[in-house]
Amino acid sequence: MSGMTKGWCPGALRPMMSGDGLVVRVRPHGGRITADQALALADLAEAHGNGLIDLGSRAHLQLRGVGEAGLPALHGALRDLGLLDEDADTEARRNILTTPLHRPGDETLALVAELEAALRDAPVLPAKFGFAVDTGPASVLTGDSADIRIERAESGLILRADGMEAGERVTATTAVPRAMDLLGWFLGQGGAGRMARLIASGQSPSLCAGSPPLKGAALKPGPCEAGLCLGLPFGQMRAATLRALALAPLRLTPWRMVVLEGVADVPQHPGLIADPGDPLLNVSACTGAPGCTSAGAPTRDLARRLAPLVPAGCHLHVSGCAKGCAHPQPAPLTLTARDGLFDLIENGAPDALPALRGLSPDTIPDLLRGRFAP
Ligand code: SF4
Repeated sequence: MSGMTKGWCPGALRPMMSGDGLVVRVRPHGGRITADQALALADLAEAHGNGLIDLGSRAHLQLRGVGEAGLPALHGALRDLGLLDEDADTEARRNILTTPLHRPGDETLALVAELEAALRDAPVLPAKFGFAVDTGPASVLTGDSADIRIERAESGLILRADGMEAGERVTATTAVPRAMDLLGWFLGQGGAGRMARLIASGQSPSLCAGSPPLKGAALKPGPCEAGLCLGLPFGQMRAATLRALALAPLRLTPWRMVVLEGVADVPQHPGLIADPGDPLLNVSACTGAPGCTSAGAPTRDLARRLAPLVPAGCHLHVSGCAKGCAHPQPAPLTLTARDGLFDLIENGAPDALPALRGLSPDTIPDLLRGRFAP
């Protein structure tokens, strides 16, 4: 993503200019698109954009390289697909992460629909403020960005404010009304920033917060209960890849992976990660130069070269600038680009104090070999 615009969340109706044109973000309802929607989005990405599609950290899709002239036609097509909100503010409020592991007959999709309806009348929310409906067999979104969470607990559902260890027990009927009460409390405190920061400042909502979430294991490429999980290198694919995935409904995750509902066989297509040991899973890298105007250097080619050097269980983040879009949290090793060179940060976020500065991309592989040698 470009760092050109701050303070609001981009969407389809409020696209963001980046180095390669407009970025048009699509937020599928319930984090899920049908095979027909996937095929149509692939066609739209080629007809109106440069054919590249990002899967973002909020489980949204982004069509890249869209021209201003094609925007009205693209909006019309998205509306016909049921993927466009009535206005930009409604779209911005509908910032809901949905567990990709929901089961047929569980509460998840009904809760998302109810929450979407309740948010239609909510006030404008701070940029990035969002919700998680994490009510599969266990909660799997606890490490992902959300301010108000409806989660699975050891017994039943809970409502939890981000930043609190435990939540209040709710039912499928009371979860959304209580979530809106919690939102009302947050807005009553000034309504700026994020929930976790407010909680950390010592404020606490009136929740009977006695139940922690039941945390589930992280998803990996391969078969899973919902179908087949596949990774996308750096969370990006070409339109042809999306077409190859259109075998069944797709559930989008915030982890650069999709789940093909009910599918068992891996589609034979390059650009998909089906092996949980694939080295590309150990690196993250943002768009970088030239796609993002804020980038100090290209990022993804370097990350591909470095991926085989990163031991399993370790993580390397190559960031085009200190904003760290691809992995804003601390990583064991981060390379942050600056004026064509890279700073190396150990166990920190991309804007933390570097251990080494001004590294040439050509010298970095040898440097990492030294760091990771047994
Ligand atoms: S982190 Fe990467 S994508 Fe984000 S603003 Fe910086 S260069 Fe652009």
